[in-house]
Amino acid sequence: MGRRIVLLGPPGAGKGTQARRLARRLDVPHIATGDLLRAAVREQTELGRRAQAHMDRGELVPHDLVVAIIRAQLEKVDGKRGFVLDGFPRNKRQAHALGEITDIDGAILIDIPREEVIRRLSARRICANCGRTYNLISDPPQSDEICDACGSRLKQRSDDKPQVVAKRYDLQYNVEVKPLVDSYRERGLLVVVDGDGDIETVTRRILDALGEGGRTA
Ligand code: AMP
Repeated sequence: MGRRIVLLGPPGAGKGTQARRLARRLDVPHIATGDLLRAAVREQTELGRRAQAHMDRGELVPHDLVVAIIRAQLEKVDGKRGFVLDGFPRNKRQAHALGEITDIDGAILIDIPREEVIRRLSARRICANCGRTYNLISDPPQSDEICDACGSRLKQRSDDKPQVVAKRYDLQYNVEVKPLVDSYRERGLLVVVDGDGDIETVTRRILDALGEGGRTA
């Protein structure tokens, strides 16, 4: 498998953490639509203002907005070199739009059960200033609820509140992402990796699936 990789999985599967590690390992850019959208919301750009209400409700941001942000980012980082996409595509329509911008070499599904999703997301925190994410159980900051990188206070994402988490899982994942997973499987592009385990173990499984397991970081 090559280096243009899409990471798929329910919210809380560890997509962000694993995508960052994988991108570093493959020496390609990590492109996360959620991070790009949250930065736009923090900066209150026109796009951020349009995206915010959808995000707070746990709903998908409109198609054209997300495709525009991805297209711009792939141009900026020179997508031909490779990439790890995290949070995009999230449905078949977005996958089609991606296919018009670039081919991909493979899709990795990080698989975890619904109860584990709810447990993990309730412990997730994000830095209100720089956007770095933590998990109070599996990846805590060095000092209580304070960002290691910039010293600002951590907070819970508004869409990690329990009612919104359940909605994101049921609506976004079951309805939107699952058909996309099936379509990548039919095209022979899908690898499923068990996401239950510590961060290092799951990274190792992903690298093995990509045939990168033997090389040192
Ligand atoms: P994430 O950080 O990937 O969980 O994304 C957080 C939120 O950003 C989602 O709940 C959506 O509202 C929005 N979002 C991120 N990626 C997409 C996408 N590909 N399509 C539509 N909305 C998205």
